[in-house]
Amino acid sequence: MVDRNGWERGRSVPTGSPREPPEAFVEQANVTDEGIYEAFDEEWPNCWERAADLLSWDRSYGTVLEDDEPPHYRWFTGGRLNAAYNCIDRHLEAGRKTHAAIRWEGKQGERETYTYRDLYVAVNEFAAALRDLGVGEDDVVTLYLPMIPELPIAMLACARIGAPHSVVFAGLSADALATRMDAADSEYLVTCDGYYRRGDAFNQKSKVDNARLALEHDVETVVVDRLGDELPHVLGDDEWDYHDLREEFAGEEVEPVSRDAEDMLFLMYTSGTTGEPKGVVHTTGGYLAHVAWTSNAVLDVEAEDTYWCAADIGWITGHSYIVYGPLALGTTTVMYEGTPDYPDRDRLWEIVDRNAVDVFYTAPTAVRAFMKWGEEYPERHDLSSLRLLGSVGEPINPRAWEWYYEHIGDERCPIVDTWWQTETGAIMVSTLPGVDGMKPGVAGPGLPGIDVQVVDDDGDPVAPGQTGYLTVDRPWPGMARTLYDGDDRFRSEYWEQFSDPDGDDWTYFSGDAASIDEDGYVTVLGRVDDVINVSGRRLSTMEIEGAVTDADGVAEAAVVGRSSETAGTEIYAYVSTENDCDPDEDVRRAIEDAVESTIGEIAVPAEIVFTPELPKTRSGKILRRLLEDVANGEELGDTSALRNPEIVGEIQSESGAVD
Ligand code: ATP
Ligand code: MG
Repeated sequence: MVDRNGWERGRSVPTGSPREPPEAFVEQANVTDEGIYEAFDEEWPNCWERAADLLSWDRSYGTVLEDDEPPHYRWFTGGRLNAAYNCIDRHLEAGRKTHAAIRWEGKQGERETYTYRDLYVAVNEFAAALRDLGVGEDDVVTLYLPMIPELPIAMLACARIGAPHSVVFAGLSADALATRMDAADSEYLVTCDGYYRRGDAFNQKSKVDNARLALEHDVETVVVDRLGDELPHVLGDDEWDYHDLREEFAGEEVEPVSRDAEDMLFLMYTSGTTGEPKGVVHTTGGYLAHVAWTSNAVLDVEAEDTYWCAADIGWITGHSYIVYGPLALGTTTVMYEGTPDYPDRDRLWEIVDRNAVDVFYTAPTAVRAFMKWGEEYPERHDLSSLRLLGSVGEPINPRAWEWYYEHIGDERCPIVDTWWQTETGAIMVSTLPGVDGMKPGVAGPGLPGIDVQVVDDDGDPVAPGQTGYLTVDRPWPGMARTLYDGDDRFRSEYWEQFSDPDGDDWTYFSGDAASIDEDGYVTVLGRVDDVINVSGRRLSTMEIEGAVTDADGVAEAAVVGRSSETAGTEIYAYVSTENDCDPDEDVRRAIEDAVESTIGEIAVPAEIVFTPELPKTRSGKILRRLLEDVANGEELGDTSALRNPEIVGEIQSESGAVD
């Protein structure tokens, strides 16, 4: 069936009545008022005061929203606050000094707990040290650290003195580090000597040395000694040992700098799934209000919870939902340095069990891995402490959703499928778990106050069930204010497509394709760039992948277009199987049947290539553009964003074998 907007869509969009959230959950949920959507609409934009009220302000704001310079909106103007004060000091003042702020689980089985008091001491001492090194308000400090407690400590120390941080994911290359530091004119760096990867010591400092050679300006560098005797800890010019600095400034306290609501809190480069990292600028007031509000309303976090977002702080998910959101609410946030399958595939469940984790938030790619490994791993542990599960980063296919719901959540825990982006700062689309029913595979409605629209090429809203572009009509507090590379790029990346500046009509374009149903629930279909045009029909790769993944025996799939002069564009599917089972004719046929019955014959892959793994970015997303190069026999594009570059060669030879 081709819809009005030229999209070939099938029955793969789950419709029908939503599944009600479990009653026991609803009884205790933070938000249970069904009228909240209407209330937000009526009060908009003042509804967002509810989010601002979750914070402590040094000076209260005058205006909730200033929209005289779109698309550069300003929120809570005139207000002043400090993010570190909000994430630490005020909890001490509320008598919660001994409450755990961070529970850290190291790769080697190490464990550390930082109470709010411990965090206060560490952040103050390090803030004093940074100041002493010359860091002033508005100087960008780059943090190139793995998942060790010094990372959030450094972020909060920066926030305390009003220095924006720019976290570069520790697994990125020296080149990537240098480019980002150069682009941000960052003259300060906090890093470490190295870290463990599957039990082996890995040298991080040598990457730093290379990056520094490539930079034209000097860089004051603080090095955390993570590896001890495993790696010689030699410091050169302008290099300081983190622990020495902490000792030097032991007991120092630094007055939190009162920041304007619109002052920059941090700079964050996007994951690079589409190949071009963009330096996204987030401010203090709106961002913190939005992440605190969504942590409370969507993730249902409470101060007494132990909450675990199993992402990396090197991505926006970790900034918003490991550090700022949960700490602003005074909860205990778990931070895990390792991987889910080391030393064994039950590692995460062991951590949930031992820490009695209440809320667990992860990505579909992880859920599909758990599913592939089998339910015996979660079954080894008591997961009854869990109350809510979350998903973020990619669409979660219904089969993975059901598996998560049944085997991790024991059908007691609602799942929130949260759509948002580095640029949106915080969650935008999701069900409210104490209010809305869930539809597996469908993210949900726009949150209260968030005006999500699915539009056609002309920018008009599509009819229910039709496909279009995912846009946001009204501004929201956590939105990026601009790109560090400049306002022009900000406008052309996100605002030009659907806005009418002359008519003073501004619409944010996310770059994603989606459909929306009668209940206003949004199904995200992936990036607009990931659309394949077969005989004039627009097919969403993610929708085909959803159908492929729902075939028995399939664990994960990526679908790309291959152009040939004779056949036009054909669909190629790259597939990994469950339990690494032997891909046989049955699996192949099951895939073809699944695609044909859910979408139609037009979407059935011309070629199915089985591979043990798919190429993924370091944030766990499938890198389709590389597979497209492979399918088209082209020279491979940039592979630096890949976590598992070796797999590409394997796939190339597999593809060769099929041809
Ligand atoms: P880049 O913008 O640099 O190419 P990226 O878009 O992968 O990288 P992020 O900002 O981390 O970087 O990811 C946001 C994207 O992730 C969204 O645009 C969307 O494609 C996808 N996404 C996030 N959450 C969901 C979800 N719940 N359902 C579907 N897709 C999601
Ligand atoms: Mg993006």
